Amino acid sequence: AALREGYEHFDPRAYLRNNYLPPRADFSSEEFVVPWKLRCLAETFASGEIRGRTLIDVGSGPTIYQLLSACDHFEEIVATDYLAVNREELSRWVRGEPGAFDWSPFIQHVCKIEGRGEPWQDKERRLRQRLRRILPIDVHRPEPLGAPLRPPADALLSAFCLEAVSPDRAAFVRALAHVGNLLRPGGHALLLGALGESFYLAGPARLPVVPLEESDVREALAAAGFALRELRSYAMPPALRTGVDDVDGVFFAHAQK
Ligand code: SAH
Repeated sequence: AALREGYEHFDPRAYLRNNYLPPRADFSSEEFVVPWKLRCLAETFASGEIRGRTLIDVGSGPTIYQLLSACDHFEEIVATDYLAVNREELSRWVRGEPGAFDWSPFIQHVCKIEGRGEPWQDKERRLRQRLRRILPIDVHRPEPLGAPLRPPADALLSAFCLEAVSPDRAAFVRALAHVGNLLRPGGHALLLGALGESFYLAGPARLPVVPLEESDVREALAAAGFALRELRSYAMPPALRTGVDDVDGVFFAHAQK
């Protein structure tokens, strides 16, 4: 209940500013956190093993960076979020409305690291075409979308959501199992998330986060029925500890249901 109350004050623009503008979104060096996240996703999708009809992104928030490498490998991308303000922010970008957040530096960077020489506008167009559904979700419900996804997703992605909405590790495991219900057996799950974080800010909202270690991520995936394929982590450099949260690092996990 306290978490729900906290999210009522979540300001999407403040969240974007805190995390998706410099210094965190600085593309001049791979040492910054945003290029690290984009590289994890680009390298994982480059294998070509993760593909299919539908990919669902859980707790998309107001962001699309996490879908830039994914969108080449799926016919449809389903974005989801608990908050209407975030779903509206995403729709503004999909429709290319004035005032939408400018993701073009992210798209250019992903095209560069994917190294296929693709014009970034082509990727932007492809993601907009494939991002047809932006649905409400609550990961605390066994049926997070309110009804089963039919057919189930071929892949699941979730970035900085589950630990940021779970009061403790047990709730994190339950949320992971709930979102696993949206995925077909054998489907791939990719998680990005915060390590050692206890709160983050989004305008007037101060959101509590369950602090995780790498071992917690491993154990949670196993307990929720996933086989771990890869786990990487990133240590937040001092220059990126800007006071918008107390994050120590970031994990990237690739697992299979
Ligand atoms: N994926 C984005 C946003 C993460 S912020 C990124 O990578 O930056 C965490 C998100 O979880 C917010 O968008 C918030 O609205 C959403 N959220 C809050 N409560 C939730 C719930 N019960 N179920 C699913 N998502 C929730």
